[in-house]
Amino acid sequence: MSEALETANPINGEASQTESLREPHPAPETRHDWSAEEVLRLLTAPLLDLVDRARAVHRRYHADGEVQLASLLSIKTGACPEDCKYCAQSAHYAKTTGLKRETLLDVDEVLLKAGRAKAAGATRFCMGAAWREVKDGEAFDSVLAMVRGVRELGMEACVTLGMVTQAQADRLAEAGLTAYNHNLDTSPEFYGEIVTTRTYRDRLDTLARVRHAGVQVCCGGIIGMGETVEDRASLLQTLASLRPHPESVPINALAAVAGTPLGDRPPVDPLDLVRMVAAARIMMPLSRVRLSAGRRELSKEAQILCFLAGANSIFYGEKLLTTANNDAADDLALIDEAGLSVQAPSPG
Ligand code: SF4
Repeated sequence: MSEALETANPINGEASQTESLREPHPAPETRHDWSAEEVLRLLTAPLLDLVDRARAVHRRYHADGEVQLASLLSIKTGACPEDCKYCAQSAHYAKTTGLKRETLLDVDEVLLKAGRAKAAGATRFCMGAAWREVKDGEAFDSVLAMVRGVRELGMEACVTLGMVTQAQADRLAEAGLTAYNHNLDTSPEFYGEIVTTRTYRDRLDTLARVRHAGVQVCCGGIIGMGETVEDRASLLQTLASLRPHPESVPINALAAVAGTPLGDRPPVDPLDLVRMVAAARIMMPLSRVRLSAGRRELSKEAQILCFLAGANSIFYGEKLLTTANNDAADDLALIDEAGLSVQAPSPG
């Protein structure tokens, strides 16, 4: 190895360790104490060394080449009182996005769609409601029935409903909920530029209640919103500081929606997404890293690089919550072409 490569490789911060990056790298023990500098060194490391290391971690802890297909359905669309600057569903931008408010879908319709998703190969069904927080009553009771129904289909059930109280998180757990999605979105430092109607602390408190209820945590973030690489490092550092790590970590690239304050943001460099996936894989070795929004803009090659870097789930189906998603047939063809396999439904 050349002197230049040795000194340029900053993954471990020590040139003397660089050689081992070329070897099958021993996976790190699960850690919660990553420093900002360490994460920044990961995100700015030579790309192939970073991917090599992430792949070694991935192969140690996960079925190699296996991808979970998760389907996502908006069960209540629009008119959300929050002001997340990237989101088409915020009532704050309804006049410019033109997105119409819809009422909560009924339970039978949701379960019909879950059944179709299962038949198409999905093993996880995620349901999103554009609420600031859950309110007890008929709508929440319907969501609980949806969760029970999805579980009866033999699928993992995930919901994203905004903030929850402990009692509501406990009821979701009783209904059999597999995971609750509540993203941190970005770094604590940059967060105020993106959302002003709820605090970072609110988000962490919701995650703590979900965890306390015994439900798995699905929590990740979005890149491409104008954040710096330091913000990306800080987001990952915060995610990895959660004890235990979120079982599921969605990594999103901004899907810029016209009419939202971030509607004219330039597209994310696909290699930045690869870096985020790889760093997440290294820092949270046991978590399922989900290649989420923004995948539609990625070439086949960029998606394969993300799989190589440790992504092991994609959102599958025609739509994400309100934005278009990759064609399902194209996804299956890509998985086949790359020699990957789709996670089989669990016998339980
Ligand atoms: S991201 Fe969620 S909380 Fe924020 S505006 Fe959209 S639906 Fe509401």
